[in-house]
Amino acid sequence: MSTNAPAIVWFRNDLRLADHAALNAAIEAGRPLLPLFILDEAAPDRWAMGGASRWWLHHSLTSLRQSLAERGGHLTLRRGDSVAIMTEIAGQTGAAELFTGGSADPWARRVEQAVADGFGGKVARMRTSTLFHPDLVRTKGGGAYGVYTPFANACLALGGPKPPLPAPTEIRAAKPPRSERLEDWDLLPRKPDWAGGLRDTWTPGETGAMERAEAFLEHAMRGYAAARDRPAGDGTSMLSPHLHFGEISAVQLWHMAHRGSGGKGREIFIRELLWREFCANLLWHHPDLPEAPLKREFANMPWRDDKPALAAWQQGRTGVPIVDAGMRQLWRIGWMHNRVRMIVASFLIKHLMIPWQEGEAWFWDTLVDADLASNSGNWQWVAGCGADAAPYFRIFNPVLQGCKFDADGDYVRQFVPELARLDSRHLHAPWQAPADALEAAGVRLGETYPNPIVDLAAGRERALSAYADIRSSG
Ligand SMILES: Cc1cc2nc3c(=O)[nH]c(=O)nc-3n(C[C@H](O)[C@H](O)[C@H](O)COP(=O)(O)OP(=O)(O)OC[C@H]3O[C@@H](n4cnc5c(N)ncnc54)[C@H](O)[C@@H]3O)c2cc1C
Repeated sequence: MSTNAPAIVWFRNDLRLADHAALNAAIEAGRPLLPLFILDEAAPDRWAMGGASRWWLHHSLTSLRQSLAERGGHLTLRRGDSVAIMTEIAGQTGAAELFTGGSADPWARRVEQAVADGFGGKVARMRTSTLFHPDLVRTKGGGAYGVYTPFANACLALGGPKPPLPAPTEIRAAKPPRSERLEDWDLLPRKPDWAGGLRDTWTPGETGAMERAEAFLEHAMRGYAAARDRPAGDGTSMLSPHLHFGEISAVQLWHMAHRGSGGKGREIFIRELLWREFCANLLWHHPDLPEAPLKREFANMPWRDDKPALAAWQQGRTGVPIVDAGMRQLWRIGWMHNRVRMIVASFLIKHLMIPWQEGEAWFWDTLVDADLASNSGNWQWVAGCGADAAPYFRIFNPVLQGCKFDADGDYVRQFVPELARLDSRHLHAPWQAPADALEAAGVRLGETYPNPIVDLAAGRERALSAYADIRSSG
């Protein structure tokens, strides 16, 4: 086939130009390029892209389109069935090769296979999202890892990924096929416009991702070991949505983190990137991870159907300050600190005995970093039913967690302003505060701020007993 026949670069969760193996290989093939993004709503309803992710995608595509245009390229946007669109475009343009990155999401893998099977020319599927291909990291017996530490050690023993590829400076564009208008995809909220906090917090796109990474690595990584568990302040990188959409690659971050001396902070940061890798690996080997407990006996948990409690949790009105602060941070900026994600998840699953899948679905809709693998892997981890799960008897006490990790109360005060004037000694358990302390702070429990929706000690006992029954039946 002539080298004038175009090559399609099918962008997915790798919305960047640097360190993009598929884009790079397409350029090396010497063909005119046809960059393409398809909004394929093939995911099961439950996993249709959430509102916060749609907001992010809109802005990320805007940024990618602009970066491509600056180099002479043109991003074609299409919405619909990937196989039908690819067949149509290949037919119209005579495209001879297709280059794309991979995904661990089960339906994305099915779509990818169907597209590859239906494409007439050569297809190259490359790794653009994770550090290593999931099949590269296997146990000595050739199986999949089910426990994080040996998995992470096996990754480290590989000696790190290859250095990242530079972004192309110029792109030879093919004549673009019909494209749709991003603005017509309705990815942004209409009325009410709930995205103000997202706009104030984030800069989606490759440039925003790189700026955030540089700032974190330069200023915060040294203190990361100590600061990363404190939800107030900028102790962590906040790179997760950029990583999820592939605006920066894990490979780039790995190598950037190894510049200069990173100390303990670097070691832990790399281990966090490996948690992401581990989750992707789990989903690769267990496609039902988002739905079903890996430890099957947990399917028999006597979960409670308590819609008012679920709604109180979602709205940040449980009466437990650190939980409410986390849930309100999530609603406001589409992101929640990792320590608080663990606390709110433990509270929902254990103190309220509401199925982890309910929490997982709420996070899916509201997180800008909603990621099928990391979300389901972590929910299962907290529930105690996943790979390498936290022991079932570890039930976070949200009061003690608050006192330990938000000792000055800055985090709770920021997101639960109705408690802002309460003394730090009482802030994490206002129901135990003396009447005069509440009055001085203007807090009227049950009026200005809720009473706790569950008695923490009784909720803990109920969960322990249910978990013990399940364990003995397993
Ligand atoms: C119940 C629950 C649900 C979660 N859902 C998601 C999700 O949908 N998407 C998501 O990206 N993360 C999820 N996490 C993991 C973690 O909370 C976020 O990745 C982290 O808070 C992102 O903040 P950061 O970028 O500042 O992290 P940093 O501390 O700066 O870490 C750097 C990167 O490492 C990765 N990472 C860190 N911790 C984890 C972890 N526990 N699991 C997987 N990757 C990790 C992330 O990509 C992160 O950006 C979840 C955790 C819990 C407990």
